[in-house]
Amino acid sequence: MNITFACPECDHTSRIPLEPGTAVACLQCDWKQHTSAQIPLEGTLDECLVCGCKELFIRKNFSQRIGVAVVVIAATTSLIAWGYYMWYTAFGILFAAALLDLYLYFTVGNLLQCYRCNSEYRGLPQFDEYEAFSLETHERYRQQAIRLAESQAVQSKGA
Ligand SMILES: [Zn+2]
Ligand SMILES: [Zn+2]
Repeated sequence: MNITFACPECDHTSRIPLEPGTAVACLQCDWKQHTSAQIPLEGTLDECLVCGCKELFIRKNFSQRIGVAVVVIAATTSLIAWGYYMWYTAFGILFAAALLDLYLYFTVGNLLQCYRCNSEYRGLPQFDEYEAFSLETHERYRQQAIRLAESQAVQSKGA
């Protein structure tokens, strides 16, 4: 199991292995986890180890950037083939790209992500217990973050 997170102090992205009994700490500065949450030996993670948020969602360990890149490359080469009147090649490329996306989707594992701080947990013993991404929850956290930023801006102006 490991965690990828952006440090709340210095914003540095660290990816560190998680062992039961260890605390999450930044590789760049001296920030250390201060939530009481424990790294589970087995079973599920109750809350985010970085921010203490209790809402986590499960998603495919699939980089959207790769998915988009596959589509863009396929569309471009397919258009070129189309320009050379290579109809079968043009369709073949699109078909292959669709297959590749499908293949990647089913072969990659799952990861757990925090709604609030976007920390990613990979290799947890049990993934089934978590809920999939909910846009509603995501929106709630986004609004919260905006309000927090606004109140901080007001405070710093007043000071
Ligand atoms: Zn840091
Ligand atoms: Zn978090």
